[in-house]
Amino acid sequence: MTLIKRALCASLMLLGSTAFAAGTADAPAAVRLYAMDCGTIAVSDISVFSPGVDAGQKKTLTDSCYVIVHPKGVLMWDTGLSDELAAMPDGKQLGKEFHGSLKKTVAAQLKEAGIAPEKVTFLGLSHMHFDHIGNVGLFPRATLLMQKEELALAFGPDAAKFGNDPKNYPTLAANPRQELTGDHDVFGDGSVVIKRAIGHTPGHQSLFVKLKKTGNVVLSGDLAHFTKNWENRRVPSFNFDKETSLKSMNEMAAFIKENKAQFWIQHDLEQNQKLKHAPKFYE
Ligand SMILES: [Zn+2]
Repeated sequence: MTLIKRALCASLMLLGSTAFAAGTADAPAAVRLYAMDCGTIAVSDISVFSPGVDAGQKKTLTDSCYVIVHPKGVLMWDTGLSDELAAMPDGKQLGKEFHGSLKKTVAAQLKEAGIAPEKVTFLGLSHMHFDHIGNVGLFPRATLLMQKEELALAFGPDAAKFGNDPKNYPTLAANPRQELTGDHDVFGDGSVVIKRAIGHTPGHQSLFVKLKKTGNVVLSGDLAHFTKNWENRRVPSFNFDKETSLKSMNEMAAFIKENKAQFWIQHDLEQNQKLKHAPKFYE
């Protein structure tokens, strides 16, 4: 190797390591929010989400998940469809109405963002449905932050009745956990707050994130699945409780207004496509 080539190699390596260091999430000065593509769900009849409306029409939803890196720790918010789907070129039928697929594993996206799964301090799941718990096994040591009712269903005798299959989350029962009975300020400074928003499931929750440059953001969980349903306050046929769902939606709408927050609807493909995704981040 010539001296010039060697020098070039060395500087490229340096550039590479500098870029990697800048992208790592170790203790940043300000809160960062990473959006990740954690799957795509083709729905054969969208009216399961909007009873009596658009019957028989197909619609594609995204399945997003998020990482919040705070100076005091890391919160993984939802975990999407299982990483095993990334190895299936035609995806996988998931129940009667849904067909799931995944372009790149969540594990690979975390790696690209410089976030080691073992550095994830907290695991916040909006609820226990299959499209939110697919990769909980990546975070066996993270403290699970969930509402009391959702935990009871996840690990209790009625799991199947509520559409939960413990075989899909075999490691989760061993995670340390904090049982919530309302809103929860994750890092104690008001910048990352879990918002109790029940109705979709008995212990459903959303997430409020305060970012210095971007402003305030609410991550929906499944409080609504896409913008049209949110604006028209439509409640999916499979929600646990319609009246409670509507109450939670109205309370969240008031909270969003009061806090001048953006509302990121986690399954809304069109809205989500406008976001920047990991390894880029919001701060
Ligand atoms: Zn969902």
